[in-house]
Amino acid sequence: MTEASGTAQAWVGLGSNVGDKKANLTEALRRVQSFAEVIAISSLYKTDPVGYLDQDWFLNAAAGVRTVLEPQAFLQALLEVEQSMGRVRNIRNGPRTIDLDLLLWEGRVLDEPGLTVPHPRLPERRFVLGPLREIAPELRDPGSGETMDALATALALVPGPAVERWTAENWPPAL
Ligand code: ADP
Ligand code: MG
Repeated sequence: MTEASGTAQAWVGLGSNVGDKKANLTEALRRVQSFAEVIAISSLYKTDPVGYLDQDWFLNAAAGVRTVLEPQAFLQALLEVEQSMGRVRNIRNGPRTIDLDLLLWEGRVLDEPGLTVPHPRLPERRFVLGPLREIAPELRDPGSGETMDALATALALVPGPAVERWTAENWPPAL
């Protein structure tokens, strides 16, 4: 069920490791605000790259939004923000000006062409669960039924890349 009629609650993961990372995250949130209402923004997290290791560290954050868009249109809008901010897809898991992932949509499981929700790598990514558990600890992954807090706690028990909270001025940004 949605709280406000006609809108859906979604959760978005943001990451950047090229240029002015914090400015990129701020600009991405401003652009998201043009098609969704940003209602929660996590702290910034400094994280080690995953997969392709020969690249700069990332700044990551998570945001909660409400939108009138359908899931496919919302993801398309996110991908257009990536493109308009100059993201070039070449190396898998490689450097990116901005990465925007649709993590969760209401409590729904969606498996459509080009759209998988919950984001399939959500339970294994510290750089996603760290910020998301901060703003939505009791939020449940409809796949496993676990809360973000429980998933993050479980992941912290196994060795993995570093994720540390990053203090910065002008964060969370005024949108
Ligand atoms: P990553 O998921 O590791 O961030 P990329 O951003 O490079 O990988 O690519 C994600 C691709 O997967 C997008 O082009 C998009 O079409 C597709 N996709 C499917 N489901 C999602 C989702 N929930 N969030 C973001 N992208 C998704
Ligand atoms: Mg992505």
